[in-house]
Amino acid sequence: MKKYVYSFGGGTADGDGKMKEVLGGKGAGLAEMSRAGVPVPPGFTVSTEVCNLYFENGNKVPAEIETQVAEALKKLESQLGKKLGDPENILLLSVRSGAKFSMPGMMNTILNLGLNDATTEALANKTNNPRFAYDCYRRFIQMFGEVALDIDMEHFDHIFDSRKAGAKVKLDTDLTADDLKAIIADYKKLVKKETGKEFPQDALEQLKMSRDAVFRSWNNPKAVYYRKMEKIPDNIGTAANVQAMVFGNMGDTSGTGVGFTRDPATGEKVFYGEYLLNAQGEDVVAGIRTPHPIADLEKEMPAVFKQLKEITDSLEKHYRDMQDFEFTIEDGKLYMLQTRNGKRTGPAAVRVAVEMCKEGLISKQESVQRVDPQQLDQLLHPVFDRASIKNLQKIATGIAASPGAAVGRAVFSADRAVDASKKSPVILIRKETTPDDIHGMDVARGILTAVGGKSSHAAVVARGMGRPCVVGASALHVEDRKGIATVTLADGKKLVIKEGDWVSFDGATAEVWLGQAKTNEPDPKSPVFATFMSWADEFRGGFGVRANADIPRDAIAARNFGAEGIGLCRTEHMFFAEDRIPHMQAMILARDEKSRRKALLKLLPMQRADFAGLFKAMNGFPVVIRTLDPPLHEFLPKREDLMVDLAKLPYADIKAKKEMSAKYRMPVGELKKNLPELLKRVEELHEFNPMLGHRGCRLGITYPEITEMQARAIFEAVVQVAKKGVKVIPEVMIPLIGNVKELAHQKEIVVRVADEVLGKAGLKKLKYYVGTMIEIPRAAITADQVATEAEFFSFGTNDLTQTTMGLSRDDYTKFSKEYQDKKIFPDDPFAVIDQGGVGKLIEMAVKLGRGTRPDLEVGICGEHGGEPSSVQFCYRAGMNYVSCSPYRVPIARLAAAQAAISGDSAESSRTK
Ligand code: ADP
Ligand code: MG
Ligand code: MG
Repeated sequence: MKKYVYSFGGGTADGDGKMKEVLGGKGAGLAEMSRAGVPVPPGFTVSTEVCNLYFENGNKVPAEIETQVAEALKKLESQLGKKLGDPENILLLSVRSGAKFSMPGMMNTILNLGLNDATTEALANKTNNPRFAYDCYRRFIQMFGEVALDIDMEHFDHIFDSRKAGAKVKLDTDLTADDLKAIIADYKKLVKKETGKEFPQDALEQLKMSRDAVFRSWNNPKAVYYRKMEKIPDNIGTAANVQAMVFGNMGDTSGTGVGFTRDPATGEKVFYGEYLLNAQGEDVVAGIRTPHPIADLEKEMPAVFKQLKEITDSLEKHYRDMQDFEFTIEDGKLYMLQTRNGKRTGPAAVRVAVEMCKEGLISKQESVQRVDPQQLDQLLHPVFDRASIKNLQKIATGIAASPGAAVGRAVFSADRAVDASKKSPVILIRKETTPDDIHGMDVARGILTAVGGKSSHAAVVARGMGRPCVVGASALHVEDRKGIATVTLADGKKLVIKEGDWVSFDGATAEVWLGQAKTNEPDPKSPVFATFMSWADEFRGGFGVRANADIPRDAIAARNFGAEGIGLCRTEHMFFAEDRIPHMQAMILARDEKSRRKALLKLLPMQRADFAGLFKAMNGFPVVIRTLDPPLHEFLPKREDLMVDLAKLPYADIKAKKEMSAKYRMPVGELKKNLPELLKRVEELHEFNPMLGHRGCRLGITYPEITEMQARAIFEAVVQVAKKGVKVIPEVMIPLIGNVKELAHQKEIVVRVADEVLGKAGLKKLKYYVGTMIEIPRAAITADQVATEAEFFSFGTNDLTQTTMGLSRDDYTKFSKEYQDKKIFPDDPFAVIDQGGVGKLIEMAVKLGRGTRPDLEVGICGEHGGEPSSVQFCYRAGMNYVSCSPYRVPIARLAAAQAAISGDSAESSRTK
C-alpha cells in the first residue's frame, strides 16, 4: 500500500528535505534536520496528498490511512516511552500545518494536544508545576476551540482578559495557577455553550479532530487569498505534522524564539532573532510581550546560545541559503522546531545572492537564479527626498522590518484600507497585524504597527510582498474602532492621527513622519546591485533589453538601468505637449493638403529636437520610432464640452470667455467663429469604435504628408547628431498594418525622404531600418508576406492581445475580477502573455517572418516586455530583444538571464 505517513526523529527519518511536495516545507525540514542529527522533537508527517483525499472523501480521512497514522503513533509512543492520553506517561503533541510553499500564519496549528482533566492533573503533579500544566491546558482548549470547533477567538479572549483584569495583572505570566484553573472552567463552559457538547476528553479523538481541522485550514479565506496573491496552486494541499511537544513555558529556564541567519530586510550577514522566556509557540510573533533580541540569550544561557548558533550556521551551509528558524528551550535544553529558506526583501535577496557567491556557498549561476525578477522592483523604487522630510514632524521610530519609502493616508483597518486605496495611497496602521489583515496589507503602500518585532506577522508578510513596513512603533496607541491613533511624542505631548491624515515612513530607518513626503529616484548604480546585474548580463548573452521611452529624460533613465536601445518611441506623446497641441489641432482642422502641410511644418522642428535628444541618449544603440498611431480626435476637445461652451458663449462674461480662450487655445475674438467650426470637425471625426478605426498606418495612408513630415524630422535629426559624432541606428516602425501593401505604401514614403535627407548630407551609407509593429492578427498570419517589406518586427502585444482576443483592455477591467475568480484566464492577459493564444500567433509570425527574411530582427514592445514569464516566453520564441518601461529594464535583464540559464530551474530554486 502507498505510504502516506512519514516518521521522523531520533537521528533518522522516513522522508528527507527534498520531499517538500509530499511532506510540505515544514515536514521536509523536520525530516532533514532529524537526519542531520539536529535535536528535533520526534513525530510523523501525514502527507499533503491526504489533505486532498480528505476533501474528496467527504471531509474524512480514508480508513487505510487512519491505520498508517495509528502505526506511526504507536511507534512514536514506544520511542518515547509515553502514551497519548495516559496520565501515567503523558504524551502531548502538536499538530502543525505546512504546505510545499510557506504560507506564514495562514493555516492552523494546535499545541498541547492530549491534555484533558486527568492528564492535566497528572502533569501538574509530575512536574510539580501546576501553573505550567494549567497554562498548557487553557492554551490547548483555546486553540482547539478556535481551530477544530470553530469558536470565535474573541470569546476566549474576553474570558481571558476579564480574568486578567479581575486578578489585576498586566502580563499573562503573572496569572496564578488558580487564575488559570478558573479560566479553564470558563473555557469549558464556553465550549459546551457553543457546540452543545463537552470539551472532548478522549486524546485520540482530539488528535483526529485536530488533524482534520489542519487540513480544512487549507481553505481558510486568508489562505486562499494568500495563494492567489503568491500564485500558489490551490490543489497541492497541506501536510499535517504530528510532533511531540517540548515546553518553553516551564519557567525561567525555558523559552521559545525565532530567528534568521542573516538580516531578512537588508541581507546583511548578522545573526538575527528574538526570544521570550517562559513562553510557548506563537507568543514571540504575536506581540503579546515584547521579545528580547537574540544577543541577550548569549548572556542568559551561553551554552544554549552557542549551540543554537552552531546549528543554524550549519543549517545555512547545508541548505546553501538564508534560514528562518524556530526553536524552543525546555528547561535548558535546546530543540529546533522549524527551518526554512527565509523570505526576504528584494534588496536582501540581491545582497544574500551576491555575498553567498563570494563566500563560495553558491555558484554565480545559482546566485543569478536566486532572485525573483519581480523582487528587483523594490530596488528600483523611489526613496525619500531628505529635504522634503525636514519640514515634516517626526512622530515615532519603530523597528525596520521591510525597506522602502511609504507615503499614504492613514487607515486603521484592513477593510478600510481596501476602500480608501481606491481613492488615494494608504498606509495601514495597526496595533499588530494578523493573517486576517492580508487584503488590507496587499493594497497598502506601507504597513505600520505599534507592537511586534522583526519576526512579527506584519514584518514577515510585508517582506514577502516587498511592501515597506515598520513594526514596534511603540509611541503609537492605535484605536481602530475610533479610527484614530494617539502618538506620545518624545517630549511627552500627545498628538492624534485621524483616518485620512498623510503619513510617511522609511522602512529602512524605521522613522515615521506626519505629512506627505516627496520621493526621489533610486540609484541603479549601487555596488551590490551593479555586481548582481553584471552577473546576470553574463548569462543573458546576446538577447537584448531595450526600453520604451518617448522623451530624452526617460531615455537617459533607461540607459542608467542598462537599456540597450529604445524599442518604442511613441511620437504622439510628443504632440500632446502644451506648446504643440495647437499646431496639431491646426493640422487636424485643415481642410486641404496645403494648409495641413503648413501646420505640419511648425511641428517638424519640435519633433526633430525630440528625436535628436533620444539619439544622443542612445549613442551606439538602436532607436525604434513609431509613426503617428492614435485616432486624431484624441487631440481635439470633447464633443460634449464644446456643445456646452457653445451654448454658454452668448451669455459669457469676459472672465468666462478668457477661460474658454485658454481652453481652446484661440483668441477671445475668434471664439464665436471658430468654436462651431471646431465642433463640426469633432463631429466629423467621431468614430463608433476608435480602437478599430481611422488610426495607425491608416492615418499615414490617407494623409501621407504626416508620415512624410515625421520621416523628415527623424532623418534630419539623424544628420544633426551624426555630424556631432553620435552613432545613430534609426528604425522607423509603421503601426497597425494588417496587409503588406499598407506597409509598402508607408515604407515608400519613409525611404524616399530618408534617402533624400541622408543623400543631401553626404550620409548615404548610414544604415537605417523600416519595419512594422505586429498588432493585428492578419499581420501575424501573413508574416511571410509582411517580411518581404519589413526589416524588423516588433510585437505590439497590448493591441495584439486586444485584437486577438476581441477584448478591449479598458473594458476588461470591469469584469476582470469575475474572470479571475472563476479562473477563466490563468492570468490577466494584458499583464502576462496569453501563451496559448496570442503566444501561438507570435511564434508562428516569428517563424514565417524569418522564413522570408532570415536576419529579420524581432522584438516585443508591449507592456508584457517587462513581465518575467513573458520575457522568458519571448526568449524561447527566438526574439532578439524585449522592450519595456525604463524601471522594468533590470527586471527584464534578469528574467532573460534566467531564461538563458533555463527558466524552469530558476523558478524552483527560489524561496516562495
Ligand atoms: P506556523 O506554520 O504558523 O509557523 P507552526 O506549526 O510552526 O506554525 O507552529 C506554531 C508555533 O508552535 C511555532 O512557534 C512552533 O515553534 C510552535 N510549536 C509547534 N510544534 C511544537 C512542539 N511540538 N513543541 C513546542 N512548540 C511547538
Ligand atoms: Mg512555524
Ligand atoms: Mg498599437
